[in-house]
Amino acid sequence: MTSPEHHQESVSVDGERPTKRPVPCPVCDASDEEVLYEPTVEVRDPGLLYGAASGIRGTQRLVTCRRCGMIYESPRYPDEVIFAGYASSEESGHDSQHPMRVRSFRRALEKLARHLPPSGSKVLDIGCAGGGYLEAAAAFGYEAVGLEPSRFLVEQGRQRGLQVEAGSIESHPFSAGSFDLVSFWDVLEHVPDPKAAIVEAARLLRPDGVLLINYPDIGTWQARIAGRRFWWILSVHLHHFSRRTLAEACRRSGVEAFVYRRYWQTLQVGYLQDVGVQLGVPLGRLLRRLTPRAVRRLPLPYYASQTTALARIVR
Ligand SMILES: [Zn+2]
Repeated sequence: MTSPEHHQESVSVDGERPTKRPVPCPVCDASDEEVLYEPTVEVRDPGLLYGAASGIRGTQRLVTCRRCGMIYESPRYPDEVIFAGYASSEESGHDSQHPMRVRSFRRALEKLARHLPPSGSKVLDIGCAGGGYLEAAAAFGYEAVGLEPSRFLVEQGRQRGLQVEAGSIESHPFSAGSFDLVSFWDVLEHVPDPKAAIVEAARLLRPDGVLLINYPDIGTWQARIAGRRFWWILSVHLHHFSRRTLAEACRRSGVEAFVYRRYWQTLQVGYLQDVGVQLGVPLGRLLRRLTPRAVRRLPLPYYASQTTALARIVR
């Protein structure tokens, strides 16, 4: 997600400048790609690239896999550089929209209710940020636990009275088969190895559990029209799934995606305007100046090419 204000620690790995390296397709493992977009700016500070939820535009070389159609960043920085960036993240702007996010998550759960485990089930949210989804899940009747790599956000979730563990999908305290629903809300496009993340999430599920994956979908017609200006093309997004490539990543990880729904989000007009200005939307500053304060506070539901997929373990 995007945010107009953030505080970053700079990240250094052994005091050396990290170098980008070619990576194989995160879905089919082939090294058979063609260039989709070349970078237009060079930014070498991992804190800037990965320290904020939104990241920067135009820094990546995006390629398309000739075998499976997956779009991903290659070459890219080593995993430890990316993780160090995420761990330093402090997102106060992102968090200002917390009540709005809770509302959006709640609505998404209600829309998907008939495919989801019943009230009282144990759910885990991987990469829970400020805990918006945990609050919505609790209100939905779930016993909700979160996992979050950013120390700042772990504290924030706990201050809200939520159960949040510090860690990541690669390193966490949970045991196999202990959840009925495991979710990745806008996370899978950030992790260096999305298939390994799906495999681990599936391992944490009971055999009849459900895996929820919300992701920016590069296969929508809105994304196709936007082309290289697709708003989710940001330094923090290493991968760009479509329904087809997400289904393939799931299939190769032992789960089957069975439902896809558009994800409608509600945020305040003013916050969206700030994000627009940050992303350089034409006339963004002028528009923001002309908007009355009362209007800036209004909730605005919008669809920005995000998709929520549900998957189950293949037996
Ligand atoms: Zn591929």
